[in-house]
Amino acid sequence: MAPEGDDMSCDCCGGGAWNPLFVENGVHLGQCPDCALLFVDDIPAPTARMTEMEEGHYAGTQQINPADRQSSSELIMRERFQGFVDLARRHRDAGRWLDVGCGGGLLMTLARDGGYTVEGIELSADRRRLTETATGATVHGVPLEDVGYPDDSFDVVSLINVFSHLISPTRTFAELHRILRPGGIVVMATGEFTPGVQQGDMLHWNLGDHLFFLGEGTIDRYAEKTGFTVAHHHRRWLPDEMFSREWLRVKGRSGAKNAVKTTIDRTPGGLALLRTVMLRRQADSSAHSGVFVLTPTG
Ligand SMILES: [Zn+2]
Repeated sequence: MAPEGDDMSCDCCGGGAWNPLFVENGVHLGQCPDCALLFVDDIPAPTARMTEMEEGHYAGTQQINPADRQSSSELIMRERFQGFVDLARRHRDAGRWLDVGCGGGLLMTLARDGGYTVEGIELSADRRRLTETATGATVHGVPLEDVGYPDDSFDVVSLINVFSHLISPTRTFAELHRILRPGGIVVMATGEFTPGVQQGDMLHWNLGDHLFFLGEGTIDRYAEKTGFTVAHHHRRWLPDEMFSREWLRVKGRSGAKNAVKTTIDRTPGGLALLRTVMLRRQADSSAHSGVFVLTPTG
């Protein structure tokens, strides 16, 4: 079975095969048998995508998290975000840092405080305003490829939980390669799946908002194709990372679920019990949280 649409060959390897997995939000997810890239059967046109992000929805009726909730979620993620700045510093310790999909601006703030000169891209107008207020830095409201940066513009470009939202990762990696200075780096965090993917591996896939996920070895194929070397790659089993104190305190779209999380957070031993139950329930999950540093080859 091949994906529908005009040009639905695999974004990573160019193959034409697509093995269907499951449907969520009326959107089909499948996997390339060659490079293991997971992708949906209906990649939106860039203009439609822009309109959706500006208006704060996707896949017809699904709402993205409002800017204020996004911002409070980021504060709880402070330690994780500081980890990205520390990781970047080990490879490139100063210069211009571009955060693609900067959300409420926490990573930009931490990078700026770490001595980098920061700039952002954020398609959601609400989040963009938050970041501009928080950082005083330039934040563009168009996709990376449309900004028109000169060659060799940045020392660090970060894409934290952005890969899944891209219209064409190949096109984005090519643009990153062009705008990075020699010895510059891409810092990227996104979902990565070992073989045997099933719908139950994630509580929510948010298909329609999320269009792509990395499979086993996919990042190496992308790197080779677009002229990068994978300088750093670590991943953590997602259920282990997810069911944490931070997760209990992050507010999502559902008020009922938020209330349950607050109750568990305030109950002595609640988190330990939750982890016992959920890690057992998710024991077969192929989902991992991957962190990568890519640097242009040669
Ligand atoms: Zn492929």
